[in-house]
Amino acid sequence: MRLKLGYFGFYFLRLYLVSIILFLGISIAFYLTANQARINTFKAHEIINIEQQEEIIRHDIQAIVSDLTLLAEDYFLQDLFVDSTDLDLYRVEEAFLVFARNKKKYDQLRFIGHNGMEMVRVDWNSGNPVALPRDRLQNKSQRYYFRDTMSLARGELFISPFDLNVEHGKVEEPKKPMIRFAIPVFNKDGGKSGMVIINFLGGHILEDLDKLNKNVTGNVLLLNKDGFYLRSINPAEEFGFMFPEKKNANFAKDYPLAWQKISVQDSGQFATHDGLFSFVSIHPLFEGLRSSTGSPEAFSKSASHLSARGYVWKIVSHVPARALNAHIYPDLRLFITTNFMLLGLIGVGCWLAADAAFKRKQAELELKNLATRDTLTDLPNRKLLYDRLAQLLAQAERSKQKIAVLFIDLDKFKQINDGFGHEAGDIVLKQTALRLTTALRRGDTVARMGGDEFVALLADVKDDETVNAVAQKLIDVIGQTIQIDSQGETTNQSVGASIGISIYPTNGEDIDSLINAADTAMYLAKKAGRNRYARM
Ligand code: GH3
Ligand code: MG
Repeated sequence: MRLKLGYFGFYFLRLYLVSIILFLGISIAFYLTANQARINTFKAHEIINIEQQEEIIRHDIQAIVSDLTLLAEDYFLQDLFVDSTDLDLYRVEEAFLVFARNKKKYDQLRFIGHNGMEMVRVDWNSGNPVALPRDRLQNKSQRYYFRDTMSLARGELFISPFDLNVEHGKVEEPKKPMIRFAIPVFNKDGGKSGMVIINFLGGHILEDLDKLNKNVTGNVLLLNKDGFYLRSINPAEEFGFMFPEKKNANFAKDYPLAWQKISVQDSGQFATHDGLFSFVSIHPLFEGLRSSTGSPEAFSKSASHLSARGYVWKIVSHVPARALNAHIYPDLRLFITTNFMLLGLIGVGCWLAADAAFKRKQAELELKNLATRDTLTDLPNRKLLYDRLAQLLAQAERSKQKIAVLFIDLDKFKQINDGFGHEAGDIVLKQTALRLTTALRRGDTVARMGGDEFVALLADVKDDETVNAVAQKLIDVIGQTIQIDSQGETTNQSVGASIGISIYPTNGEDIDSLINAADTAMYLAKKAGRNRYARM
């Protein structure tokens, strides 16, 4: 008896499924945890980067403001007046020139008198600072920065919007990003003698940003309070508010959803379908300083003063969705391939395990078989026959039924062995076993007792005639010719059989007496001439 192959399939599939679930569960959990840690680090990195940028810009501005304050405190400057002598002006010019040369970041340093007239002006002049002669100085009384600054109190400061330098009503080319810082100058009597104004080359701030941007994933942008780009990855988009045709070159238009958050919050980080945005606000004005909204048109008046909080730039680091995904799931493909490979390996392991289990089960079954089955014919052996008979007897006793025991012995079987060999004898025994099994009903038992002896048990026997008929039928089927292929020869042989019959409860009520009675009856049949049945 062998195990079905389906049993192996079932065993393998069950093992493999459980292994897959376990393995994938652990593997995915591990991947997600590791990934989350990496995402967190990545996000933190973005924040740290823009915070560094904010720090740098704040430093830049603080340095300018302290320069401006220092200039305004100049002793000679405070005494300059419309009718100051050339010597007085010369002293201030010298101080301005020293600043310009050493700071290298100022496009213009000017002192403008209280009537709006430029009195001292030092130009950067592409690296060779020069003081302009008197006849080239202009009246600036109509410019917004003059009016705004002259209206400030002591301790207050003016910072213009970060925009592009305008010359003669046109944006200067190449573009010159500019921020104007100004402070009123007070004379010894406390009256305003004029103002100092510095044109700061804003490109320096942008360059500082660029230096830090080299080692980050995100595109770092600098935006003004209206969402216009001061620094973008696309230079053509920058300072869009200076050009009527570039009114749409605006972060707020490109990423409206993101701008909704960035414009109202001071700092933060969030993701949209456009990617990951991290941002901080820069307030170039410290508390107490003032600015104007600064109309970009040369002579129009600024609309109103801004508070320190109102003047704001935003540093935004934008990691586009695609780059973000590459960062969030960097080794997804590797993860999937490795998992597939491992699942394959696990499959092989499960196959081997299932195979081992299958073989063990098969061996167990065979062992069990060995104890209860006859190895040559695979019929129940004597032990199993006795077990079955015991069961039948218990049942029959309860239900008052009859049982027939048929003891079958082949006639002159030795002649087969002697004439054609032991192998031929085996063939006859196997064929007989098969014929007996086929001839009997399913519920009946046929067992091999040993040698050429078989026993058949017929349960629930109605009458003697039926038993006789079965016995005769068995003799008939056994007696049919058997083709024997042995030792290279083929012969057709037939064997007779003698059958002894005993009936429960007539001839005995226990196993031994019933078997013995049947055995004895079988000898009677032999004595009577063989190939027949006999009863006790
Ligand atoms: P009888 O008509 O009186 O029954 O004579 P018989 O020749 O059949 O002799 P008997 O039943 O007394 O002996 C059975 C013989 O079967 C004895 C032994 O040589 C042979 N035999 C027993 N077991 C096997 C077996 O497993 N294979 C083969 N080929 N022969 C066996
Ligand atoms: Mg015999």
